[in-house]
Order: sequence, then structure tokens, then C-alpha cells
Amino acid sequence: MRATCATIHLGALRENLRRVRELAPGAKVMAVVKADGYGHGLERVARALEGADAFGVAGIADGQRLRAAGASQRIVVLSGPDEAGDLAELRRLRLDAVVHDDAQLDLLAADADPRPLRVWLKIDTGMHRLGFAPERVREVHARLRAMPGIDRDIVLMTHFANSDVFDEATTTQQIERFERSTSSIAGERSLSNSAGVLGWPEAQGQWVRAGGALYGMSVVAGRIGADFGFRPAMTLSTKLVAVHRVRKGERVGYAGAFECPEDMPVGVAAIGYGDGYPRQAGAGTPVLVGGVRASIIGRVSMDLVTIDLRDVPDAKIGDVVTLWGRGLPVEDIADHANTIAYELTCGVTRRVRFVEDES
Ligand SMILES: *Cc1c(COP(=O)(O)O)cnc(C)c1O
Repeated sequence: MRATCATIHLGALRENLRRVRELAPGAKVMAVVKADGYGHGLERVARALEGADAFGVAGIADGQRLRAAGASQRIVVLSGPDEAGDLAELRRLRLDAVVHDDAQLDLLAADADPRPLRVWLKIDTGMHRLGFAPERVREVHARLRAMPGIDRDIVLMTHFANSDVFDEATTTQQIERFERSTSSIAGERSLSNSAGVLGWPEAQGQWVRAGGALYGMSVVAGRIGADFGFRPAMTLSTKLVAVHRVRKGERVGYAGAFECPEDMPVGVAAIGYGDGYPRQAGAGTPVLVGGVRASIIGRVSMDLVTIDLRDVPDAKIGDVVTLWGRGLPVEDIADHANTIAYELTCGVTRRVRFVEDES
């Protein structure tokens, strides 16, 4: 059996939720579990994070999966309904809907179902992705309140574009626009994602929406989750399947991308881009071999990577190779692969075996 394995640390997930609560003591926590729980497995993450006040998902299909798995918390569909048929399903499953544009308002207005649907009114305060313009908030809110099939308690929300940069003026501007456009409206507020929780305590409102932090990841440049008190929730590992001595001047892997500067031991580990290990991770990307730091050499291929074992001279077939997680921050791998940690955990593929660990 291939040794490639993603270990999901359920205890870390639970602790990270506690840490988010500590950082946002006055707020309820929506645990964002879109993209299969950032690649950690939707149902498994929801079970570990059962103490969350709500779950945030990207689409109704994830709400169906969560309800089928027995989740009873509020579930918020972050992109809301796309078509008329969605409204019945949202109500049947008691899913909250984010409402962010006029097409959705029209769907709701044309809907005669009186069972109250809970909505989150999304305001575009500067990210310019989803949401109503600030000057329309009062009108849209009033329109929603007048609809018999809409729950009276509408949550007002916005999303930050740059909250991971703590001294950046655009977040301050987004907060001001949010406050100005909602000042005359009663109701709960939700502004912050993980970076908002970390860097913008004035923007916690009644609900924070935490994703990455719960999985122990940071999006703040140059910082890792541990710097903020979070623990990685995924360790990606495999084993060495071959160890060679390769002569000085010989080349390793596709295109001979690495030339051995001396006679040296080279390890081959059973993981590649077919598992979601990034092909962009070039020579020098760190790995752990039996807990000792080594690095990738040559090109990442579909099923295998090659490793410089000069610092691990005793390495042998069967030794555990850690690609990221405990002992090796996924943020560091993301830097080497020119991406962010979120993309790496989301990208672990289905052929990787997932195991759960209580710690
Ligand atoms: C994904 C998402 C979040 C969570 O963002 P993190 O950076 O992972 O905390 C919060 N709110 C919305 C609307 C999102 O789409």
C-alpha cells in the first residue's frame, strides 16, 4: 500500500477553535469548512469542531453533506441561492443564505414559501467581489424585512480584501464603510475572517468567520499559524521507497534538473503532484526524513519526489518523510511553491489516505 498519508489532528482543530474564541471573546464563531474543510475532510472537521456556533460552506451541496452527517448547527451558504429551486432546499435543510445581489433578491421576492429563511446581507465595502454597494444597504435591508418568507433577524456582513496586512489602510476604510452604511440598522454584524480576528479586534462584531486559523494556518506574510497560537491540523507524510548513492556530476529526475555537486545519497519518496504535493516546490524545499530536515532536489513528478540525503546519511527505505504539518510549517512549503498554505491543504488529492489522530 502506498504510504502517502494525510493525518488530521482532531485535537488541534478543537484547540484552534478555543484559541479563536480566546481572540474573539465577545463573538460567535462560524467555522468555515468550504472546500471539504480546506482539504481536511468536511464531515471529520465538522465533528471535531462541533462546538462552533455555525459552519460556513460555499454551496448547498456541502450543507446537504453536513446535515446528512448529523450536524445541527447553523450552516451558512456563503454564496447563497443561484436559482429558484435552491430556496426550497435551503429551507428544507435549515441552511442560512448569504444574499449579495439583485438576482437573489428577485428570487426571494418571487417566492411564496412563508417558512422563514435566515439570511446574511452581504455588503461590498471595497473588495468588489460579492455584495451590495454600501449606499444600497438600507433599501435592500428594508426590502428583505418586508418579505414574509425571510427571518426577521438579518445578519449584516462584509468581507475584507487585505486584513492579513495589519497596518494597511484599506481594512480601516472597509470597517468605516461598513459602519456608516449599517449605522441605522439593528442586527448582528460579521466582518472578520481569520486575519481579521488576528489583526483587527475592533472588527469582531457578533460573528467572526474563521477558516484558516482553525486549521492552524496563517495567511499573514512571514508568519506561521504557531506564531498566533495555532497548531497545524494536517500532517502530510509518506515513506522513502528508495535510497541511492549518486555520483558527482550525475543528474537527478526529469530534465536532469539537479546535478549532484559531489557523490551523495539521494532518497526517493512516494509522493508527487498526483497527491497534491506542489510541482512548483523547487529544489531546496524542506522535508523531514525521520524527523531530520532535508530538502527536495530535482523536479517533483506525479508519484515521486527526490530528496538530498546528505544531512541524513543513515536514512533508509521505509523512513517516514514529512512534507508538511507537525515540525514543518505548511506556510514554509507554500513560500517555496509560490502559493499560500490554504491552496496546499485544499489540493491534497483523493488517492491520499486520510487518517485521524486525536492529538
Ligand atoms: C473563506 C471565507 C472566510 C474564511 O477565511 P479565512 O481566511 O480562511 O479565515 C470568511 N468569510 C468568507 C465570506 C469566506 O469566503
